[in-house]
Amino acid sequence: MPDAPLSKIMDVSLTRSCNYDCSYCNQRQELDKPMFDMSESKRKMVSNKRRTGAEWIAGLNAFPYKDDYDKLLFSGGEPSLHGEFVDIVTRVKGWRMKVIVTNLSFDVAKLIAGCHQEKTRVIVQPSFHFEFAEFEEFCGKMDLLRSASFLSNFIPVSIVNLPDREEGENFRNKFKARGYEASLYRFEGYYKGKFSYAPLDGYGGIKETKEVLYSSCVQPVKPNGDIVYCTTDTYSETSVAYGNICDQKFVAIPREIKIQNYGNRHISAASWTRARNPVSGEPIWQGKNYRHRTPMNRLRVFAEEKNYPWLASAKHFANVVQNKLKKPDAVNQTNLD
Ligand code: SF4
Repeated sequence: MPDAPLSKIMDVSLTRSCNYDCSYCNQRQELDKPMFDMSESKRKMVSNKRRTGAEWIAGLNAFPYKDDYDKLLFSGGEPSLHGEFVDIVTRVKGWRMKVIVTNLSFDVAKLIAGCHQEKTRVIVQPSFHFEFAEFEEFCGKMDLLRSASFLSNFIPVSIVNLPDREEGENFRNKFKARGYEASLYRFEGYYKGKFSYAPLDGYGGIKETKEVLYSSCVQPVKPNGDIVYCTTDTYSETSVAYGNICDQKFVAIPREIKIQNYGNRHISAASWTRARNPVSGEPIWQGKNYRHRTPMNRLRVFAEEKNYPWLASAKHFANVVQNKLKKPDAVNQTNLD
């Protein structure tokens, strides 16, 4: 029986720029060499040629395949650095769910007012970057978002978990005391000599050139509007584009492609993708966000869209059970809790 359709996300990178410079930012990871101490290297920036707010609004509103996607994500870099950020996120309509992934350094009151004016809703999923963000100011913004029902209850705040630093766990406890469930997420990539995410013969194993069948649940859109196959392609100037959102050009996106550079695909693509052996069809790797539109997953998307208050506790519980049941070396990797 053929697989159900993929549970897909469109991830629009309004800009690759960021006002922070986190030492662990995985945009530091080059495609051709592993980074052992990422703080030594600069953030990777391919073309940051941006589209205007009007171009994004017209392009995303006219996109004819919105129903193929479970959500529209605005990310970056830091998406709020786009000069017309509030206009874009409030005036783009017709998508099942709009989610902003942000370091929360912007004026959230303006976003809330813009949404009320446009009679629209967005879900804000903030990340707390402890090297730059100020805890009380950050919490004040979360309070405002929560009272307007815009704060994600699925992932109210995420914090990176670095193997040799305690801030993640400490801040998670501080958020808990302040009434917020913070998720620690697994650091994605090389950190001080250790590859802390995927099996070494997969992502980032630069000597690996085996051919695999490869598919992705996320379709990234570059700051210039180009639609690409997976997150790796957003770090390359020469990747194939499947049309352009702002130019209203669309090319069919294949369900699965053959690639030969599986080893040095960018680590931030890992959680969304699946790689299979082209002969046996056996999975080599399947990330935690690689999903099909099964009835269970549709239910999950529905709950996330409704943003029910019990979501964070349910997710925490599911992760604890999942981590207990799965072996650490399993092909399927899991979340922290
Ligand atoms: S806030 Fe995010 S994108 Fe910006 S430097 Fe930190 S990790 Fe990178």
